[in-house]
Amino acid sequence: MKKLGFGCMRLPLADKKDDSAVDIEQMKEMVDAYLAEGFNYFDTAYMYHKGKSECFVKEALVKRHPRESFYLADKLPVGMMKKAEDKETIFLDQKEKCGVDYFDYYLLHCLDKKNFKVAEKYGVFEYLAERKAAGEIKVLGFSFHDTADVLDEILTKHPEMEFVQLQINYLDWENEKVQSRLCYEVARKHSTPIIIMEPVRGGALANVPGVVKNMFKEKESDLSPASWAIRFAASLGGVFMVLSGMSDMSQLKDNMSYMKDFIPLTEEEKSLCLKAGTIIANKDTIPCTACRYCAEECPEKIAIPELLALYNKKINGDTVTAEEYASLTAESSPASCIKCKKCEKMCPQKIEIAKLMKKVSKTFG
Ligand code: SF4
Ligand code: SF4
Repeated sequence: MKKLGFGCMRLPLADKKDDSAVDIEQMKEMVDAYLAEGFNYFDTAYMYHKGKSECFVKEALVKRHPRESFYLADKLPVGMMKKAEDKETIFLDQKEKCGVDYFDYYLLHCLDKKNFKVAEKYGVFEYLAERKAAGEIKVLGFSFHDTADVLDEILTKHPEMEFVQLQINYLDWENEKVQSRLCYEVARKHSTPIIIMEPVRGGALANVPGVVKNMFKEKESDLSPASWAIRFAASLGGVFMVLSGMSDMSQLKDNMSYMKDFIPLTEEEKSLCLKAGTIIANKDTIPCTACRYCAEECPEKIAIPELLALYNKKINGDTVTAEEYASLTAESSPASCIKCKKCEKMCPQKIEIAKLMKKVSKTFG
């Protein structure tokens, strides 16, 4: 398997304001181009694109290409479960939505301390082991968002897990909350194969500050900032897949150009990435990955990820126009936040969104 996975959380949109309005024709072109270059791993989930990502995967991939020509990964949204029966209802729904009889890779989605308890309480590990024995899952693992000690606990209690999906990138490598390095080391200690998510940290490492851009340019003038982030992740031992959420053909082509015949970074190049990470971390930007899990929850319909991205743009020294802010707040402004914190319960990055809405409002309002 080539190490670049096609993440289906940031598919191309026909309407930039509607996350469920995926541009299916552009997606089909991207899927075809990706497969034609010898890549073959697709990653979707129940929640992506307002619950429609799996249906788009069926249309663009499953219906149009032989089942054995690609690997499909899907995830059980443990955090959404309200009762034990939900796991089967959701699993069957996912098979139907994707149009498949089996998943090549299947994950318990977004395990942290709280969701781990939910998974144990509702017998999710046992249920998925049964699905695997029945041939409906080929390889079973989980995605993870918490500290390294929690990861150690899960892998110790569940050695049957065949892989783990971790948030690893050069910016979060030493981050206290994400703990990329520490989590990586725990997975290696357990000899658990690793898939990497958020190698570009929701696009933040594709749009780096000027000083970092110049550092990379001096070393390799032809390569994009995103290439450094993806190659950093792919160069780590024990990593068999790096997911990238590509939102248009140019991003896909850029990713494929250096991942087709991947050459790992040298130690000097890895150090350059970590130095870049320190510079970016000092800018004090908000660690939002634009996953959009919060957006669906907000009763005030505030454009949370977009506003946080705008705030980061300003912190990075780029110009933010009044029109940009106005277009994001036409429906609802951050000042209308009622501090219900429903968004924060969904945020895998544990961002204090309610507090930040006040800050964003003060900064731009
Ligand atoms: S805390 Fe504010 S931003 Fe978050 S869901 Fe509630 S109203 Fe929306
Ligand atoms: S604030 Fe959190 S949940 Fe919302 S998009 Fe950013 S990372 Fe995702």
